[in-house]
Amino acid sequence: MASQEIDTLAQALARLPGLGPRSARRAVLWLVKRRETALRQLVAALAEVQERLVECETCGNVDTQDPCGVCSDPRRDQRSLCVVEDVADLWALDRSRLFTGRYHVLGGRLSALDGVGPEDLTIGRLIDRVVKGGIDEVVLAMNATLEGQTTAHYIAERIDGYPVRITQLAHGLPVGGELDYLDEGTLAQALRARRPMG
Ligand SMILES: [Zn+2]
Repeated sequence: MASQEIDTLAQALARLPGLGPRSARRAVLWLVKRRETALRQLVAALAEVQERLVECETCGNVDTQDPCGVCSDPRRDQRSLCVVEDVADLWALDRSRLFTGRYHVLGGRLSALDGVGPEDLTIGRLIDRVVKGGIDEVVLAMNATLEGQTTAHYIAERIDGYPVRITQLAHGLPVGGELDYLDEGTLAQALRARRPMG
């Protein structure tokens, strides 16, 4: 019989992506055995994240400052904007170091199945950024899933007519491939070989 506290923690952990109830219970036990080391570090790190992390109102990135480090970096190319589904994709692309522009995080993908429509994503904010001008290229870096591609086509239609070049990652990516899981070489290749959306 586990205590109420352990149950509560295990249930909270089980909601994390990729962690089921069983691995959550194992993680809790692992932490309890390391109360003074790993558990203490985790508690401190969680508190720090809760305290300091904010969402960038410009691009949707998560950072300790708003505008985020990417948006406020003057060395970055302001004329190039890369649109991604999630913050994890932004980080993955940024690790590849091949994209020197700025980003826009949609906060998900269009999905009829999950009831996610354009108004649930930051597409309006993206259009605003495009309308404001000063952007030459919009790179649509959606995942190579059906929903990702539907989202890319929808956005391409919405910004068609504005004076920007719309390109798409070269999806030699495996079908169903999620950016976050690609190795950096593959990602870099997809970015380098990006092609006009059509
Ligand atoms: Zn930002």
